[in-house]
Amino acid sequence: MRPAVLFPLFRPLSSLPGLGPKLAKLAEKLAGPHVVDLLWHLPSGVIDRRFSPKIAEAPNDRVATLTVRVDGHVPPINPRHPYKVRCTDETGVLELVYFHARGEWLQKQLPVGTTVVVSGRVEWFHETLQMPHPDAVTTVDARDEIEPVEPVYPMTAGLPAKTLRKAIRAAVSDVPELPEWQDAAWLARQGWPTWHDAIRRAHHPDDEADLAATNANRKRLAFDELLANQLALALVRLHQRSLAGRAVAGDGTLRAKVTAALPFQLTPSQRTSLAEIYEDMAAERRMLRLLQGDVGSGKTVVALLAMLNAVEAGKQAALMAPTEILARQHAESLAPLCDAAGVPLALLTGRDKGKARQMVLDRLASGELPLLVGTHALFQEDVAFKDLALAVIDEQHRFGVHQRLQLSAKGRAVDVLVMTATPIPRTLTLTAYGDMDVSRLTEKPAGRKPVQTVTVALDRLEEVAAGIRRKVAEGARAYWVCPLVDESEQLDLAAATERHAFLRATFGDRVGLVHGKMRGPDKDAVMTAFAEGRLDVLVATTVIEVGVNVPEATVMVVEHAERFGLAQLHQLRGRVGRGDKPSTCLLLFDPHLTETARARLKTIRDTEDGFVIAEEDLRLRGAGEVLGTRQSGLPEFRLADLAVHGDLLAVARDDARLIVDRDPDLATPRGQALRTLLYLFERDAAAKTLRSG
Ligand code: ADP
Ligand code: MG
Repeated sequence: MRPAVLFPLFRPLSSLPGLGPKLAKLAEKLAGPHVVDLLWHLPSGVIDRRFSPKIAEAPNDRVATLTVRVDGHVPPINPRHPYKVRCTDETGVLELVYFHARGEWLQKQLPVGTTVVVSGRVEWFHETLQMPHPDAVTTVDARDEIEPVEPVYPMTAGLPAKTLRKAIRAAVSDVPELPEWQDAAWLARQGWPTWHDAIRRAHHPDDEADLAATNANRKRLAFDELLANQLALALVRLHQRSLAGRAVAGDGTLRAKVTAALPFQLTPSQRTSLAEIYEDMAAERRMLRLLQGDVGSGKTVVALLAMLNAVEAGKQAALMAPTEILARQHAESLAPLCDAAGVPLALLTGRDKGKARQMVLDRLASGELPLLVGTHALFQEDVAFKDLALAVIDEQHRFGVHQRLQLSAKGRAVDVLVMTATPIPRTLTLTAYGDMDVSRLTEKPAGRKPVQTVTVALDRLEEVAAGIRRKVAEGARAYWVCPLVDESEQLDLAAATERHAFLRATFGDRVGLVHGKMRGPDKDAVMTAFAEGRLDVLVATTVIEVGVNVPEATVMVVEHAERFGLAQLHQLRGRVGRGDKPSTCLLLFDPHLTETARARLKTIRDTEDGFVIAEEDLRLRGAGEVLGTRQSGLPEFRLADLAVHGDLLAVARDDARLIVDRDPDLATPRGQALRTLLYLFERDAAAKTLRSG
């Protein structure tokens, strides 16, 4: 249970001053639903209001706070002109300038004859100092209301900056003192403040330098977040391991039949991965292993052989896919091999209902059905195995730790193998899977040929088109991927349509167009025409369907390649090099490249290794961007920036490992404090694996 000391932090945002239901909604969209989420919403800038010159000394275009007397109001002669309030001090005149002002309100706020403190950006205009729309106006007595250094927060439309600032200030001033969860010696060595101080100071920066990710307050907070993440993963892993494992080792008969039926030899990394998996399964502890490999690298057959190992031992195995379609594909591709080995296999998805479903469940419960493929329908309560020994989760990044726990609860000592397709940099693997064992399929996917990659400046577009016309004349087929214009599908479509017209003018009518807005059947028709060779060039917005396989396509053109993520370029390039002819990938770039963009294109040109590309992408762009985090399913960090705090992640992992070694129940005083840390960062599921205490 969440410790009581944290209750105030988990109140809804509407409990904060100034946040009514409507504004609370906006703040929630910006930061999250609870008070604690506003604590994680750190300032991205500062406005320094400490500079308080006399009027005559004020420089042009700078934020200043001035003490002045109100001399008179000058309402506008017509509504297009501004309302002015004339103020003075002993050195000169300052005009406060308001557009679309309500005069009555201003007269109340700035009564003639009073002395006021005003803060805002000042500028000289025809020898007169002006302050358009002051940020703050107070009486002299209340001048403390003007924060000397004001934090500037990332905003969202409709939520006034002042309101957000006030709510965050209230949240911060309510922050409880929490027991120290970090190792005292480590804290001292780093020179880091307590959590309480770190939060307070992070929200009250003194200057721009305090906003840097390398600032001690920010580092402390980042490390707390990373430690919560790593500790949660370590606990889940410990929990899985501690549930008694058992040795599972078949006699190899079924595997021999399937291997004989395969039309190919296993690659070296498939063999190595299998050896690692068999060893894990044969050990008395639970397996928790990640199998990483590009799409098409041959993970399925590895999964099948691992499952057959369990079946040979008289037990059951299940393969779970994130979508209905993928589950079906798996079942279809496994069926002939299972037939060859004489092993029954069934499919179970959310769509199966009634009698058919009941029959699968009965056969599963009796043990008559050794292999099951399905979606998360496998989690449902009425799904009971006779003796599940291995769960394979084809993750594609869509499941989380939680689901992993759920599935392994379906059997006695279930070994778990997680498969993932997108190459993830090692650092990020750590955040998603913790200290999980990893096997990697590193060979180029079956049947892929190396692709020659060339970068070309966009101003040579005509030349490129001419070159492709020559290749097409020799029988080649080409993809032409149009630039991402921005987040807008509408504009992407416009660009593609225009390029389609241009290429038609050059090539004639054997140029097709597919885009995201097309209906399924129309899209299929164009794709089929390209696959069958009735079209030579296929112009596409970014979404070339993942499934397309046109071995005859040997040219990939990507316009404005600098606008794509490296992983995306890697995927696009993977569309060619599938046949027996040499292939080319042309990356057209805007000649006005930034240094980073140049480095990224060089990476993609120099290697086809998805893992190298992923590492490099992380280094160059930072974790958030690499992953487009939400859809990747990898944890999003609010405080840690892996591009900067990557080294802290390794420390957090080691610390987490040490903690679960020495104090697996988190029973010591530090352990108790660490429980609070887990709840603070909402790792409740992991905390719940602990015995109460
Ligand atoms: P993944 O699941 O990793 O995306 P698949 O398991 O679907 O990839 O494999 C892609 C294709 O490669 C399949 O047609 C599979 O039969 C084939 N394949 C797998 N392993 C090998 C291998 N060692 N040699 C040749 N082809 C292979
Ligand atoms: Mg697959």
